[in-house]
Formats: sequence, structure tokens, C-alpha cells
Amino acid sequence: MTFSRKARILVTKACHRQCAGCCNTYTTIMKHASYIERIADLPTELDEIMITGGEPMLVPERTQRLSTQIRNRYPASKLYLYSAEYNEAMKNTIPIVDGLHYTVHEGATLQDITSLNRLQELLQSHKAQWREKSFRLYIDNRVILPVTINPDIWSQVNISKWFTEQELLDKQPTGLPVGESLFIYIGT
Ligand code: SF4
Repeated sequence: MTFSRKARILVTKACHRQCAGCCNTYTTIMKHASYIERIADLPTELDEIMITGGEPMLVPERTQRLSTQIRNRYPASKLYLYSAEYNEAMKNTIPIVDGLHYTVHEGATLQDITSLNRLQELLQSHKAQWREKSFRLYIDNRVILPVTINPDIWSQVNISKWFTEQELLDKQPTGLPVGESLFIYIGT
């Protein structure tokens, strides 16, 4: 059996949230991460690349620049942005990637719900232009505020439990999905 070669890249470790069970505090899993200073330090061949953090949209220009570098180096690979923080700069990075995975975390505030609604407005207004892209929404099932989902724009909506580190380690010895490697970008 062959598996996809995937890279999950933290473009920043900075995050303004303090989610209970933040995956970046999963030390047994995080010790498998490699630190890179250049996109050229990534493996030569990758089928799928996930840009994540921390919160990539806290550093939107860096996220856009690295997305462009990754897109140029891997023109045929799938490239996804993972975020839990909508801001207007997101509209500059979405055209570069193949899709967006957006999360509404436990403890979501009214501001988070407003941000989700603004993102949905953006996706709705670009629906024709971005019709080939994948937009996936994950909502932690502990979110207590009402969430309105526009079914026209999401390729997939998942409302479920956040995995603990032990649950991830029970699935795979490294805690990472099969074929996936973890990288932390420490370049400028
Ligand atoms: S948004 Fe992500 S990186 Fe930030 S605290 Fe939550 S799980 Fe961790």
C-alpha cells in the first residue's frame, strides 16, 4: 500500500488563543517536528502540504509569502491553509492555495462567530471564482454559542470532539497521520 507524502508546516507558533488541548502542547507528538529555515529544506516530493500554526492569519504577509513559495516549489501538490482566525488578508492567500480548513474552537466567543460569518460572506461572494477549491469547516462540539452554517460554500462540515494527545497516539505511534511529517518554519 502506498501513502500520500504530506507535510504539516507551522508557519508560526504564535497564537492568541489558549485552547484546552492545543495540539502544539502535545509534547510527545511535537518532538517529531523538524525545524526548517527555508522552504527548500522541505522534502523534494510532497503530495499534500498543510500550512498551519499557531495561527497563520496573525502573520498574514508571512503566510502569503510562504504560500507562494510553496506553490512555486510544488505546483502539482495539494496545498491547504489551516486557520481559526478570519481577517481580510485571507482573501489574498486563498487564491494561492487549493483550499481552506477553518476551525471554530471550544470557547468560541461572539467575535469568533462574527469572524466565521464574515468568512462565509467572503466565500459566498467568490463562490464562482473559487469553485474548484475545497472549503472545510470543523466545529468543536463543545462550542456553546449558536453557529449559522451556509451549506452552499462548504465542501465538508465536521462537528465533533477534539482529539486528545493520547487518542492520537493510540491511532499511530507518532500521533501523526500515516505519511505525514511535521515541520516548524523558523526562517524570516
Ligand atoms: S487555535 Fe490552534 S494553535 Fe491556537 S491554541 Fe487553539 S489549537 Fe493551539
